[in-house]
Amino acid sequence: MTPSPTLASILSEFKGFDPKAVPVETAQAAIARCVQPLDCIEQVALRDAWRRVLARDLLSPIDVPAHDNSAMDGWAFAHADLSPHGESRLRVVGEAFAGSPFTGRVLKGQAVRIMTGAVMPEGCDTVVPQELAQTHDGHVLVPPGQTPGQHRRLRGEDLARNKPALRAGRIIGAADLGLIASLGLAEVPVQRRLRVAFFSTGDELRSIGEPLEAGSVYDSNRYTLWGLLSSLGVDLIDMGVVPDSPDALEAAMHRASLHADAVISSGGVSVGEADFTREVMNRLGEVAFWTIAMRPGRPMAFGRVGQAWYFGLPGNPVAVMITYLFFVRDALLRLSGADARPVLPMQVRSAQALRKKPGRTEYQRALVTRAQDGTWQAAITGSQGSGVLRSMSEANALIVLEHHRGDVVEGEAVNVLPFDGLLN
Ligand code: AMP
Ligand code: MG
Repeated sequence: MTPSPTLASILSEFKGFDPKAVPVETAQAAIARCVQPLDCIEQVALRDAWRRVLARDLLSPIDVPAHDNSAMDGWAFAHADLSPHGESRLRVVGEAFAGSPFTGRVLKGQAVRIMTGAVMPEGCDTVVPQELAQTHDGHVLVPPGQTPGQHRRLRGEDLARNKPALRAGRIIGAADLGLIASLGLAEVPVQRRLRVAFFSTGDELRSIGEPLEAGSVYDSNRYTLWGLLSSLGVDLIDMGVVPDSPDALEAAMHRASLHADAVISSGGVSVGEADFTREVMNRLGEVAFWTIAMRPGRPMAFGRVGQAWYFGLPGNPVAVMITYLFFVRDALLRLSGADARPVLPMQVRSAQALRKKPGRTEYQRALVTRAQDGTWQAAITGSQGSGVLRSMSEANALIVLEHHRGDVVEGEAVNVLPFDGLLN
């Protein structure tokens, strides 16, 4: 096996990379370049494949539909039998229903009464809808102007046999479950779930149930991260609160790396605290400390301990969520073998003027609502401090103020990322 390149050598490929001012897109690209998909397949029952990553292209074992069939209620016949000019009079020789085909052969001058989904009888290629034709004395009268092959669904039209019905890397959703069922497949090859360990760092942190002395705060990050990671469908290893001591951090990091594919910590990467995290990480693996040109979420560490990828997120509760969304989520998806899932922005009007410094990306927490005139607008949710979790909890979207952008005037169009499915 070729040894994996070091983090430092990968980062050296990024021209002009300055760890003290990393644009969001550069940090994302660097992480994507480092993290390669795991490939570890398991076979699961169809329903258990929901929200899992498809590990192999799924070839259709059958044609769907399995036979040519009618798209309308009407009469089926061979188009070549119709009179080239004027109305045609065809003798009705039988019926075809969905699930109950006409078994005979349709000869020249004959037609079959047919229902939607019924197999096209042998000798027929065209259907006239019932509202366009009339019957009389055991015959159907077909008006001129019918197109050959009309209202016929072709065998294999939805999915052709031995062709990929779904591609590897897809996260299997509700429509995919139905599609796989339509192929008659009971089991699906999926990638194994990722194992993600996470912990909080800080001497000031108290766990729920402990008394809160002056200067201490309850640890909230582990709960937010638990929610975010759970909706991604990974297996979680909650490692609790780790004090600000090199020995405790080293022990936690080492233990996490033995069991997890990725380790996420919060706190301990800001300028004042990064030193001992750096010291510990350099003993156990490799780490890069970045100042990202973003707000909130400036400091961040990224690296590797043993076989696990390490994400050192800032301690401030809002910064945790934002850095998770833009760096960790994509990396975990990639690691799990899933296709990239770009977050789809939507454009709305800013309900107020916003101050913005060019040269960093800012994320403001906002409530997007429908204004009286029917258009959508985004209003920020109070104080935007990176420790104010309420600004997140009251919001339903993030306003993205891009790297080069300056101040926003009231009514200006801004991109927002709705939280639904992303941050809740
Ligand atoms: P740090 O990045 O460790 O310097 O932390 C920055 C700020 O976030 C400090 O005010 C911390 O008290 C706070 N903080 C850090 N970790 C947590 C946590 N797990 N829960 C709540 N607040 C935290
Ligand atoms: Mg701290």
